[in-house]
Amino acid sequence: MKGLVIGAGQLGAMMGEVAWRLGIELWRYCPDTHRYFFGTEMDARGDTGPSDFDWVTAERELLPQTPFHGVLLNLATYQLVSDRLPQKKLYDELGLPTAPWGELNTGESADPLLRDIGSKLVVKARQGGYDGKGQWRVSEPGFVSEADCIAEAMIPFSREVSIVGVRGADGRKLFYPVVENIHKDGILVETQAPAAEAGKWQAEAERILGTLMDHLGYVGVMAVELFDCGDKLLINEMAPRVHNSGHWSQDGANVCQFELHLRAVAGLPLPEKLTWVPTRMDNLIGVALDYQWLAGNGKVHWYNKEPRPGRKVGHINTLL
Ligand code: ATP
Ligand code: MG
Ligand code: MG
Repeated sequence: MKGLVIGAGQLGAMMGEVAWRLGIELWRYCPDTHRYFFGTEMDARGDTGPSDFDWVTAERELLPQTPFHGVLLNLATYQLVSDRLPQKKLYDELGLPTAPWGELNTGESADPLLRDIGSKLVVKARQGGYDGKGQWRVSEPGFVSEADCIAEAMIPFSREVSIVGVRGADGRKLFYPVVENIHKDGILVETQAPAAEAGKWQAEAERILGTLMDHLGYVGVMAVELFDCGDKLLINEMAPRVHNSGHWSQDGANVCQFELHLRAVAGLPLPEKLTWVPTRMDNLIGVALDYQWLAGNGKVHWYNKEPRPGRKVGHINTLL
C-alpha cells in the first residue's frame, strides 16, 4: 500500500516510522518546495515524485493548492480549520463551549471588543499562526489590527488540557485520556498523560471532540486544546491531525497516535481499545542534540532538524 502525507515536517516523519513497521510505503510531499521525501528521510528524492497513491493525508491544516487536493481526505476540514473565523463559528453553531470572541479585521479598532467581550483580549491572526505566533495581547484602548483576526476574551483558566482521538471511516471513535499541557512563551513544553483528575473531564472532552469529528465526517486523528476553568471546559482550538500533546502515546500507549491516524486513513482496522500507562512528554526546544539525555529514563525522539530559538527539535517520553 502506498500513502502520501502533505507536509514535510516531523509529524509526517513520525508517521513514516510507523508506516515502515506496518509495511506501508509512505511518501511525504512539501507543498512549498514541491519535493518528495520517503518515509522518515530528511533529504528529498528529486523534484518529481511518485503518483498513484492509495490515499493522501496531511500533517498540517494550512495547505496551499497541491496536485493532490482532489484525493486529499478531510479536505473540507482542513479548509475550515485553517481559518480561525469559520472554526469559531463552527463551535457556536454546534453549541460547543469556547472562549467568547468577535471578528477584528485589518484596520479596525479593538476598542468595541474590549467593551463587549472582555477587558483583556487575545487577538489572533485568522490564518497561519502556531506556537503562539500571530497573536497579540490587548488590554489598553487604541489597538488597531494589522491583519484579519479574531479577538478572544483572555480566559483565566486553571490549566490547559487537550484530548486526542481517532475516528474511523465507519464512524467508530477511540480516545486517549485527557492530558495536561504546560506552555512557555506560547510553546508547548510539557504534557502529562493522563492529566491529574483526568476522569473529571474525560466524558465532556470526548463529547466535544466526538461532536466535531462526527459533524465533519472526519477520518483520522484529531486533537482539541481546551481551557480547564474549574467548573467548565472551553475550546481553545482544534487540530485535524496528529498533535504534539499526543506524542507521549509513542511510548505510553498500546497504539500511538501516528499509527491510529495511518490505520484510519488507510482503512485498516483500529484497535479494540486504547490502553496506556502514565507518561510525561518533554519537548526539546531550540537545543542541540545531546546524547547525555540517554542517561535519563526517557525515550528520546530527535527530529533531525537544525536547532533555532523556539523551534521544536525533538521530545523525550518518560514513563512515570
Ligand atoms: P499551537 O502551536 O498550539 O497551534 P497557536 O499559535 O495556534 O498554538 P493558541 O493555541 O491559540 O495558539 O494559543 C497559544 C497559547 O496562548 C495557548 O496555549 C494559551 O496558553 C494562550 N492563549 C490562547 N488563547 C487564549 C485565551 N483566549 N485566553 C488565555 N490564554 C490564551
Ligand atoms: Mg494552533
Ligand atoms: Mg494551540
